[in-house]
Amino acid sequence: MNRFNSISPAEEDLIIENAYQDVLRAYLASNHRRKVEIIERAFRFAKEAHRGVRRRSGEPYILHPIAVAQIVISELGLGSTSICAALLHDVVEDTEFSLEDIRNAFGDRIAEIVDGLTKISGGIFGDKASMQAENFKKLLLSMSNDIRVVLIKIADRLHNMRTLDSVSPEKQFKKAGETLYIYAPLAHRLGLFKIKLELEDLAFKYEHPQKYAEIMEKLSEGADHREEIVEKFVGPVRKKLDDAGFKYEIKARVKSAYSIFNKMRNKNIPFEEVYDVYAVRVIFENEDDALEQIKCWQIYTFFSEGHRLHPDRLRDWISAPKANGYRALHLTAMGPEGKWIEVQIRSRKMDEIAELGYAAHWKYKSGVREEESELDSWMNTIKDILAHPEPNAIDFLDTIKLNLFASEIYVFTPKGDLITLPAGATVLDFAFAIHTQLGTHCIAGKINHRLVPLSYKLNSGDQVEIITSDSQTPQQEWLEYCTSAKARTRIKTILRKDERQLIKRGNVIFNDLMESEGIEPSNEFITKVLANYRLKTRDELFLMLANDEINLSGKELTDIRSRRSSLWRKLLRNPFSLRKKNNKNSSSSDKREHQDGNEGSGNITVNISIEGSVRKGILEELTASISRILSNNMRSLNIEATEDLFRCKLSAIVENVDMAEEICVDILRIKGIKFAQRIS
Ligand code: MN
Repeated sequence: MNRFNSISPAEEDLIIENAYQDVLRAYLASNHRRKVEIIERAFRFAKEAHRGVRRRSGEPYILHPIAVAQIVISELGLGSTSICAALLHDVVEDTEFSLEDIRNAFGDRIAEIVDGLTKISGGIFGDKASMQAENFKKLLLSMSNDIRVVLIKIADRLHNMRTLDSVSPEKQFKKAGETLYIYAPLAHRLGLFKIKLELEDLAFKYEHPQKYAEIMEKLSEGADHREEIVEKFVGPVRKKLDDAGFKYEIKARVKSAYSIFNKMRNKNIPFEEVYDVYAVRVIFENEDDALEQIKCWQIYTFFSEGHRLHPDRLRDWISAPKANGYRALHLTAMGPEGKWIEVQIRSRKMDEIAELGYAAHWKYKSGVREEESELDSWMNTIKDILAHPEPNAIDFLDTIKLNLFASEIYVFTPKGDLITLPAGATVLDFAFAIHTQLGTHCIAGKINHRLVPLSYKLNSGDQVEIITSDSQTPQQEWLEYCTSAKARTRIKTILRKDERQLIKRGNVIFNDLMESEGIEPSNEFITKVLANYRLKTRDELFLMLANDEINLSGKELTDIRSRRSSLWRKLLRNPFSLRKKNNKNSSSSDKREHQDGNEGSGNITVNISIEGSVRKGILEELTASISRILSNNMRSLNIEATEDLFRCKLSAIVENVDMAEEICVDILRIKGIKFAQRIS
């Protein structure tokens, strides 16, 4: 039973007002400018709009937008615009108020964010894969337009996940899947580490309730003992920190249930064998940014002096921050009872960035002059992909997903600039990451001064130099050894452009060939050629020609032509004459008409006169065209030809006059035919 069944409207209203006051309090405690008036209006507006509506749990609907606003201020550190948008985020979707109402009351900025949130409210997973892709694309589009849309969307999802208990199991499962599939990775990418962990754990809880309960129980069983172990472990370090004059805070924590589950599953081991379940975080106060890195390493030595360190578990995310802006120094040391313990060393600033992600990053950015962050460049990649969308929505989704999920490597330019790439990235990925031109003309790479091919997979720390050639152009197979979204998108774009040019070139080659062979590239002939190669379209044929994949002047062409010849012979079997005259003066006296049998059923005999200029193959084509329409109903065909002109008279049995007209029209389509008309 829910608590809202038994309370009075006045009590209910008090709960709502208190929840809202909590939001205001958090806002006033933050560093943001004091724009309480607009927040107040947004709250009153939303409260009125959702009046009388309840969530499935029975609570008044307005408590949901308030909770989202609370997350937006307390957990994301965003300001009044975002708080207003969070309060109003379901108004357009769920109430009778329109976007215009929001715009009139709160202005363009808030209206646009609410619009973005409304557009992606359908969820990422529609019934069809293409719908998913489309919705996802909308999400990313709104993100590149205003990052706050996605941040509020994540807050919305987080609150829904926190209150998922009250929905049907089917919906729970669907929401959990969606959250793991897209929201958790997105939160990770945006540097919202804490929220990512919570989303994962909640999703895990609803996807695998049994396993979740088991892990949680084991974690709580060992809680006391764990504290003891951690205290023994950090005791000596505390002393050293104090002696060195550090102001600091040490937090002991356990790995998340979901990450433990993942380790158990991936390594196929029981809970007991998952090491570094224990983790310790040292956060130190630091005034001077220049000393930040040195202090981290100083604290590192405090751990290394008294403990055995795990050789493979040192992570320096200070000199090479993660793409989401995360910076810290991680090490894993052997604690009491042989337990591995992970240690994260962070300054206060690093910690805030790790916890609040993009918002905190932003805050710091405005203060100190800082280069474009890795997160910014990731956002730029997304914008980039959106600016060059794949023709196919599913391809697009894959491309983005690839970029969203991939873990990273860190490599350097010859000048020592750091480039972050997805794990598995090659020399070619690197080249495209620097500049499209560099990628396009890349022929090889030099890794630490050693020559390597384009497909060479880079390792973190490699220094990469790109060797180019102006004559180099992207090849189809390049797609096989590119991992980064940017390189793949670029290569595909160039290949498509190239393909169009190749098709044009193939078309020219084909026309030239037909010309020199004296064959008119009529529809009919091309169809035969396509059939011969089992191709579906002309473009395919032209592309193969341009790529030298088929040779039309070779044996195949002869075959196709000989098929024509047999047709010709078939025509010859009909009684008609073909006479070539080299003499211009020769008249059309020598014609022979044939009129025997096979008439009746209302058929008529017609005579058609045809004239044209002589060109190799034109007579074959003419007869082919005639025979296609007339099949066995041609009576005679008299042809006279000179060097450059021919004239002929066709006699045929047709059903009606219209059919004769049709023959004429068809004949006139042949290149070189100047005249075709029924004369009797
Ligand atoms: Mn919502």
